[in-house]
Amino acid sequence: MPSTSPDIPGPLPLRPCGRSGLRLPEVTLGLWQNFGEATPFDAQRELVLRAIDLGVTHLDLANNYGPPPGAAEATVGRLLARELSGRRDELVIATKAGYRQWPGPYGEHGSRKYLLASLDQSLRRLGLDHVDLFYSHRFDPRTPLEETIGALGAAIASGRARAVGISSYSARRTVEALEAADTLGVPITVCQPSYSMLNRWIERPDPAAGGRSLLDVAADAGLGVAAFSPLAQGMLTDRYLAGVPEDSRAARGGPLSASYLTEENLAHVRALDAVARRRGQSLAQLAITWALRDPRVTTVVLGARTPAQLEQNLAALAGAPLGAEELEAIEADAVD
Ligand code: NDP
Repeated sequence: MPSTSPDIPGPLPLRPCGRSGLRLPEVTLGLWQNFGEATPFDAQRELVLRAIDLGVTHLDLANNYGPPPGAAEATVGRLLARELSGRRDELVIATKAGYRQWPGPYGEHGSRKYLLASLDQSLRRLGLDHVDLFYSHRFDPRTPLEETIGALGAAIASGRARAVGISSYSARRTVEALEAADTLGVPITVCQPSYSMLNRWIERPDPAAGGRSLLDVAADAGLGVAAFSPLAQGMLTDRYLAGVPEDSRAARGGPLSASYLTEENLAHVRALDAVARRRGQSLAQLAITWALRDPRVTTVVLGARTPAQLEQNLAALAGAPLGAEELEAIEADAVD
């Protein structure tokens, strides 16, 4: 789909998702925040439709996105039934299960019972017979990995998912999941870790994974990498450079605690903002360009509150690649 904005390259660049045939746009829209009951449906609709209009054809959901849990999937379900009717196959719809979704012992984690029941509920809310990607949202130490990965395989075999992934698994757990997948014959296509200039754990060698980082493990196994929160939940934007705006995530008392906004962190953010300005980008655009500098990263899964934020972020894809001096300057302030 060509973009309709002069600053945004169109069609949006795609990258192969590891060694699979699935190609994903470099930017994915995540529906974790801003898709709950506190946001008017019209605003949610406008953001999703604008994203798709701009070529952001990959929507990242989870069973629990809302609030209440399930609300974000219900929004997408409403849009698929109306404005997006007939366009389902132009989209990659991803969802996950792992966090608490309903009361009792079977309402979270990684058992076969929970994962497949949750997927059925997600499909009902979405009004679909399959999703394109279904993730185990987190590693569950209480369930044998063979059971969790086997349930992902069952999702594919039953036609409820076209492909599967694992999210927030460490390098070591990813290696173990890949071993289980190999034994069971389950093709894992993608992993979804957090990654930003303020959170670089996926680059770090993990002694428990033979000294390899998650990025190395993913590349060796041919997994795509969908990197979430590339803007560090808004810290890597101009939002907090001059205080905490009333309509920001930090002010809403959500998952971005104002306690992250220490003088020390903000000093790094200001220095990174200066690098961005020198190259004619906003800090959010620099954060996106930086996360995508590594070809092992397939897509950045970012959030937006408004179409204007999303448009600004997509314009990052038209920016020049980072030069050696810029990378060096960033290295001094890109911390974990
Ligand atoms: P980001 O790091 O992209 O932060 C998004 C927030 O940054 C926005 O809500 C907005 O905050 C602010 N922002 C975005 N663009 C701009 C801009 N141009 N200028 C100023 N501020 C801007 O990602 P999220 O933390 O929202 O996560 C993105 C997605 O990743 C989620 O929706 C979800 O799909 C996925 N995710 C997956 C997880 C997992 O466990 N697998 C966990 C967390 C996220 P504000 O509202 O303050 O304006």
